[in-house]
Amino acid sequence: MTLRSYLEGAWHTGAGEGVPVADAVTGETVTRVTSEGLDLAAAVAYARRTGLAALGELTFPQRAAALKAAALALQERRQELYELSARAGATRRDAAVDVDGGIGTALVYAGLGRKGLPDHTLIVEDDPVPLGKGGTFAGRHILTTPRGISVQINAFNFPVWGMLEKLAPALLAGLPTIVKPATPTAYIAAHAVRIIEESGALPPGAIQLVAGGVPGLFDLLGGQDHIGFTGSADTAARLRSDPAVTRRSARFNAEADSLNCSVLGPDAVPGQPEFDLFADALVTEMTVKAGQKCTAIRRAFVPASLIDAVSEAVAARLAQVVVGAPDAAGVTMGALVGLQQREDVRAAVARLASAGSIVSGDPDKVEVAGADAERGAFLSPLLLRVDDVARQEPHEVEAFGPVSTLMPYGGIAELGELIARGEGSLAGSVVSSDGDFVRQVVLGAAAHHGRILVLDRDSAGESTGHGIPMPQLVHGGPGRAGGGQEEGGLRAVYAHLQRTALQGGPAFLDSISQ
Ligand code: NAP
Repeated sequence: MTLRSYLEGAWHTGAGEGVPVADAVTGETVTRVTSEGLDLAAAVAYARRTGLAALGELTFPQRAAALKAAALALQERRQELYELSARAGATRRDAAVDVDGGIGTALVYAGLGRKGLPDHTLIVEDDPVPLGKGGTFAGRHILTTPRGISVQINAFNFPVWGMLEKLAPALLAGLPTIVKPATPTAYIAAHAVRIIEESGALPPGAIQLVAGGVPGLFDLLGGQDHIGFTGSADTAARLRSDPAVTRRSARFNAEADSLNCSVLGPDAVPGQPEFDLFADALVTEMTVKAGQKCTAIRRAFVPASLIDAVSEAVAARLAQVVVGAPDAAGVTMGALVGLQQREDVRAAVARLASAGSIVSGDPDKVEVAGADAERGAFLSPLLLRVDDVARQEPHEVEAFGPVSTLMPYGGIAELGELIARGEGSLAGSVVSSDGDFVRQVVLGAAAHHGRILVLDRDSAGESTGHGIPMPQLVHGGPGRAGGGQEEGGLRAVYAHLQRTALQGGPAFLDSISQ
């Protein structure tokens, strides 16, 4: 019953009762999570000794091949991950985002590593730059693998994708990984690690997993190590202030929560395709993963003259959503991860509603298909409206569930100010076919965003959607969103490597990669 951790090449059971993790749909206990008594110092030493050495023997394309083999092993057994995901409330559509999205991300990275990195263990980044008139002295940069490890702390909402998008660049960079999944969905991440382990795709020590807390782990980390964190802004702030980061300068990348926005252009009146694209996208973002997506649209800005029409159109679509057990017929939205999460979302909705009103859905009542509405962590999708845009709540409170707030804007200047009040976001979108309007909004909003998606009738067919990060592009955002950058193609691999400037004679600089 107790979830096991994969450390030093074997599965270990923590001591004590542990924390029970409930099935999001039935309330039954799925597993218990504890890391008590596990030897994390030995795990770190094993990663440094065995994992680092094994990965160091592989060139970048060889690591890419190992990553690809791990991803294919997961693909082969993905049904098992879908079934476990359903216990966390995820529908098949939700699991596709997490499981297939994670596998796809790993495969993209494997392709980038095979085609875009040298058949070597170091990267020569640039051509020599002459530093003297006589041509006998020059400089260039190399990237090498730090003599450290990658500790990856993930949020509960994407146990597979969140793990693989961090594992992939770390592995390519040659850093052994210790994964610490979030407790509520650790059993899904642990099963993915079990599949990888049983496939034998990765060299020994390349991946370990701790189920449960990691007390003392940061004391073991220093300047050669990398910490990748995803979760709430509060936890990010706590971990960022650890001496491992502040004194010993472990690299720290944070992906935190954010009040992502979507903007409807004034041209997109009812009857225009962009009006429907906006309403559809908002409903998708509210309902996929029951809105438990760091990139979901929390603030929907629409022209003041269109807010009634948008409100009606979105409410009509939300009325079609069928909430229930992921395996029940017709269900289009599953459960939140647990009852505590539902309480947290209800509390956040109460704060948001104090600034305006709920226009669709009831936080205390929901009709549920195929399950008990109280035992399972079900919640109705909730659309709010705040007309007093000066209020702080809609720009500050993240309700991490199927919740979004409509707000009116007057002109472009006001819109720019409202966007900025999110204080830094992962993803924004602009839905309009007015090129001038789009350009002005994007240029004003770019500094506040890690990614901005523009949607119109021409791009809609191929558009990957507001909420889906692409491995080729940066994921992460400034300010409140954590200030980090993940993915972004090979940029993420480079971020794990040490860049060293070399100075010397041309012969030495040419010989460095031989
Ligand atoms: P959380 O409570 O901050 O937890 C995140 C992770 O940190 C979990 O694995 C948690 O472990 C761990 N943790 C907590 N305290 C720790 C400590 N002292 N030392 C080491 N690890 C510690 O966040 P969450 O509830 O899992 O996730 C929801 C939040 O994540 C939302 O706010 C969402 O916006 C954000 N999020 C952001 C992104 C992104 O890419 N930017 C993606 C997904 C989610 P335990 O579970 O064991 O406590």
